[in-house]
Amino acid sequence: MTENPRTRETRPQAVPASSRSGAVRETRTAQVRPRTEGWTQQKDAEGRPLLQFASPKRGKPPVHLADLTPAERTEKVKELGLPGFRAKQLSTHYFRHYTSDPEQMTDLPADTREQLVAGMLPSLLTEVRRLETDRGDTIKFLWRLHDGALVESVLMRYPGRITLCVSSQAGCGMNCPFCATGQAGLTRNMSTAEIIEQIVRANRLIADGGLGGKKADDHSMERVSNIVFMGMGEPLANYKRVMDAVRSMVAPQPDGLGMSARGITVSTVGLVPAIKKLADENIPVTFALSLHAPDDHLRDELIPVNSRWKVDEALDAAYEYYAKTGRRVSIEYALIKDMNDHAWRADLLAEKLNQRGRGWVHVNPIPLNPTPGSVWTSSEIPVQNEFVRRLNDAGIPTTLRDTRGKEIDGACGQLVATTEDEAASAAMS
Ligand code: SAH
Repeated sequence: MTENPRTRETRPQAVPASSRSGAVRETRTAQVRPRTEGWTQQKDAEGRPLLQFASPKRGKPPVHLADLTPAERTEKVKELGLPGFRAKQLSTHYFRHYTSDPEQMTDLPADTREQLVAGMLPSLLTEVRRLETDRGDTIKFLWRLHDGALVESVLMRYPGRITLCVSSQAGCGMNCPFCATGQAGLTRNMSTAEIIEQIVRANRLIADGGLGGKKADDHSMERVSNIVFMGMGEPLANYKRVMDAVRSMVAPQPDGLGMSARGITVSTVGLVPAIKKLADENIPVTFALSLHAPDDHLRDELIPVNSRWKVDEALDAAYEYYAKTGRRVSIEYALIKDMNDHAWRADLLAEKLNQRGRGWVHVNPIPLNPTPGSVWTSSEIPVQNEFVRRLNDAGIPTTLRDTRGKEIDGACGQLVATTEDEAASAAMS
């Protein structure tokens, strides 16, 4: 679908005070242009924001049980000179009891435990720091990977569910100027097991009673119920490993974590060919598109990948996801003051969504979270409310998203896992 020329013309211009009238209320709103301050956005040879799709080559993380299919696990155990059925026992320890500690594995012969664990469950994530909010119901973990790369995950208890926001890459190559993760570029893709290990470690902590917010004595049956790929990285730029991780999440225990695909949200800046591939996987995950602007004029600047795939192409791919899977898709929209929060943009967004059908989509605006060095601020509350109201009035279910973890820089777009974080933790210990 092509952009509607009529709506393109409604883009607000600076209007002299003398010519303002109630009839052109929307055009009075300022239009702030994206820019960065306090850091320099990396540019490509043509002076456009740099996009990194390929992972820089670095030493590969050790192969782990969670990188392998059940058949491959058996093979690998045999290669270690041990009976193949040990693989199932190890999987049970890992995916059901959330442990990689040989001491706990009393069903395995004492003299081979160390060897099995070293060969099948190598250490992948070293905890560098843990930050909690007051009641302890939101926890941000900073992890160091085997090669020193740093990533974060955020664990959140909500009424009736526990959500983990996972990282899929160390850093991110998508260079969105309002997101802290993109500022340092892409360090590397994470392996399947590095993605899974974030969940296993969170489940261990929950079972030990380490997540606050609920007054119960026995936490042993509790675990992460929902996953959002909204931590560091662009999941669809690390497609194969992310999908293998999703397969392990939904595989029944002890082959995998036995989670429901519906509770897993894959969020993307809009890599259209990968969205199409995802729609054909036959795994009913929840799909989220980070749109942030309904017009190419602004989205070109706000989401650099828009230079490859335009708003309408991304929306067509999102609609196709719905058509193929029957799963209602989410549109993510960070509300940025005077940048993308204009009433006419809410109307244009509603128009573009309704053009494609009814009941296929909901919109999740989220007030922008502050990031270091950013001069942008979140929209004023009445503006947020007006944005939401207009979409709802146009028949698009729209709910303002709760921003959890802001106090610990754990909210959307704030994950940066800098070496300063590490330095601060060293100073604290
Ligand atoms: N790369 C993926 C997933 C990671 S970001 C994606 O872009 O979808 C998860 C969500 O946080 C995205 O919707 C992203 O646009 C949003 N986000 C990034 N920076 C933000 C900020 N400063 N405030 C609010 N949301 C932000």
